Amino acid sequence: MSRPPFASPATRVRIGSTLLLAGLAAPVLADVPTPQDTPYAPGTITLQVDATGLGQRIFRVRETIPVAAGALTLLYPQWLPGNHSPSGPIDKLAGLRITAAGKPLAWQRDPLNVYAFHVDVPEGVASIQADYQFLTPTDGAQGRVVMTPNMLNLQWNAVVLYPAGHFAHQIQYDASVTYPAGFTAATALDVAQRNTSPGGGDVVHYTPVPLDILVDSPVYAGRYFRQIDLAPGAKVPVRLNVVADAPKYLETKPEQLAQHRALVTQALKLYGAQHYDHYDFLFSLSGQMGGNGLEHQRSSEDGEDTDYFSEWDAKAGFDDLLAHEYTHSWNGKFRRPADLWTPNYNVPMQDSLLWLYEGQTQYWGNVLTARSGMRPLQAARDDLALTVAAYTDNRPGLDWRAVQDTTNDPIISQRRPKAYRNYQLSEDYYSAGQLIWLDVDARIRQLSGDRKSLDDFARAFFGVDDGAWQAQKPYTFDDVVATLDKIVADDWTTFLRTRLDGSVPFASSVEATGWKLAYTDKPSDYAKAMQKDSKGAAEFTYSLGFSVDKDGKLGDVRWDSPAFNAGIGSGMTLVAVNDLTYDKATLEDAVKAAKTDKAPIRLLVREFNHYRTIDVDYHGGLRYPHLERIAGKPDYLTRIFAAR
Ligand SMILES: [Zn+2]
Repeated sequence: MSRPPFASPATRVRIGSTLLLAGLAAPVLADVPTPQDTPYAPGTITLQVDATGLGQRIFRVRETIPVAAGALTLLYPQWLPGNHSPSGPIDKLAGLRITAAGKPLAWQRDPLNVYAFHVDVPEGVASIQADYQFLTPTDGAQGRVVMTPNMLNLQWNAVVLYPAGHFAHQIQYDASVTYPAGFTAATALDVAQRNTSPGGGDVVHYTPVPLDILVDSPVYAGRYFRQIDLAPGAKVPVRLNVVADAPKYLETKPEQLAQHRALVTQALKLYGAQHYDHYDFLFSLSGQMGGNGLEHQRSSEDGEDTDYFSEWDAKAGFDDLLAHEYTHSWNGKFRRPADLWTPNYNVPMQDSLLWLYEGQTQYWGNVLTARSGMRPLQAARDDLALTVAAYTDNRPGLDWRAVQDTTNDPIISQRRPKAYRNYQLSEDYYSAGQLIWLDVDARIRQLSGDRKSLDDFARAFFGVDDGAWQAQKPYTFDDVVATLDKIVADDWTTFLRTRLDGSVPFASSVEATGWKLAYTDKPSDYAKAMQKDSKGAAEFTYSLGFSVDKDGKLGDVRWDSPAFNAGIGSGMTLVAVNDLTYDKATLEDAVKAAKTDKAPIRLLVREFNHYRTIDVDYHGGLRYPHLERIAGKPDYLTRIFAAR
């Protein structure tokens, strides 16, 4: 709202100059140049980052900016790709001092756009220097921890200021980083030169790149580092760069390597083309650095627990993280929604097509995890059962809010926790989108006599322009429909819109693949392993209507569930069940007994220092979701999960 549309021909536009109210002085107004597709003429900006401040968790930055005399506006990135929201961490930018030939130069933050800094460059000055710090979180409450004694994650958007008035790809950066001694760094950027700092660490100079490629090429660096070749002998390298809290977490078994390599071959069979000259997974295995999953075109930031490799079998393929973020190189990065693409990082994004960007990535992430062998077939079905159950019985919010509207959630919520997530809804375009694309896959198979599938869509839509990576190929809703129509003709607009806008439920989509949702009184082995991994948490979502952690604290209480209707709320602590101290087994026994017993289940709950007994009149027994085969229907699902 504080900025003119980027298509405007004006180079400087004052916004809000008619907002003069009687008796008030004229406010100072947002005065930020509109981005133009023209080079930043004064020249290449030098960005030096000192990443050695691990103990104090500080990145120290010096930026040298060639300038022309006159008004200059420097921007700190606000709208972050992959976050789809105005979440640039400007609260952590500190110590900004601007100088010209050693003399201080005043800056003023724009009162209507706190991400913009105005500077008047005097005549005769050809270059200014900006010194500042990025104060990374010293505690998880401040945000994701990105520096530990043994690793760091540098995101360039967090340490860069850039001149307003130009498209990001028109501003060149010559970036270098001083790393702590003993650290090895991985990034999609190419290394131009490597020196040793007085502190003994590497000073790495990267080959100059435009701002859009710099921001799309973060760094993971660590003391304990291993690079694994995921595409041995391939012309286009794909590498897994792992940093871990300790060397033992870097150890892998041959079958784990084979499955990670199969992920690459299965993705290439699916998409056909590659939109990178090399691809680097930046992978942290840490209990200290915050987990992450953030896509880029030539890399991704991926964070898992330390036991990712060591507990591989027990975890039975819980995570589709690597397959998901890798898929984004095609879906979301090379091809990205036209309304999401912005010329720089301070023009608002629109998220209307995230049900394709994230929804189909959620679909392929899960499918490729199965096709690579990282997730066994039964676990793949059990994982899908959890999603189908959620959208059949645990999303009462779909009564008031359509999936399309949830694409606004990155901007609305920015992932803040919610009290009643099932009712408020959140970023539901991910998993609801996954089910919509499952439905589309089944429909293509059905209409084509099983000769075509969503694989054909993926290849036609994403697998184009092999080798191209420096420019993106945006798309609209109509482009999606046109490609579907080429695979097999149908009224795809109506098919998609009725599901996105809420007039056709999509939770039954799995039935089109030959399987249906069923409940039994035992969780699947996959769900059981997940509960075990969450350290004593218990799942009563489809019976009483809540999940509960090992200390009895209730998670999301399902709106209109038996527990909710009895007065139970999210965040209460469950203290006792039928007068016995709460633990998982006691509550399971009580739910089982109530199936034949007419008496309600008596729950003692605590809110702050208040205790209260709440009777829940529920007699449906334990209920856990599974998928069951529909006899006589073609089994598309098994074919979808099978390796190509
Ligand atoms: Zn994603």
